[in-house]
Amino acid sequence: MIQLQVRTSGRQSFEDITSQVQQAVSQSGVQEGLCHLFCPHTTAGLTVNENWDPSVQHDMGLALDDLVPQRRDFRHSEGNSPAHVKSSLVGASQTLFVDGGRLVLGSWQGIYLAEFDGPRTRKVLVKVVTA
Ligand code: ZN
Repeated sequence: MIQLQVRTSGRQSFEDITSQVQQAVSQSGVQEGLCHLFCPHTTAGLTVNENWDPSVQHDMGLALDDLVPQRRDFRHSEGNSPAHVKSSLVGASQTLFVDGGRLVLGSWQGIYLAEFDGPRTRKVLVKVVTA
């Protein structure tokens, strides 16, 4: 298993980790298989989305803010319940195909660590297996 470190840039941000994940795939030596990604945090997650226009990440942030606003009747004492809910909505894992030693992604797709309670340094665990 390979562990990536990702420094996030804002309270809520989407960090493109595609090249770091591809590096882990190359390091694994696997040519045909699966790349499993896991984010071991409760206020961050992983998503695959457009990596051409950065406005898409901005708009995803706004939409998630609309879906999960702060509420006075949230009970969690840390005060970051929206971040926990967004983390569950986005999900903690992704599985991607590996073909010819390369991640298989659509032309406009990138892999993002979605930060909801940053900025901080986050971990992403990567396991590449032959399949
Ligand atoms: Zn919390």
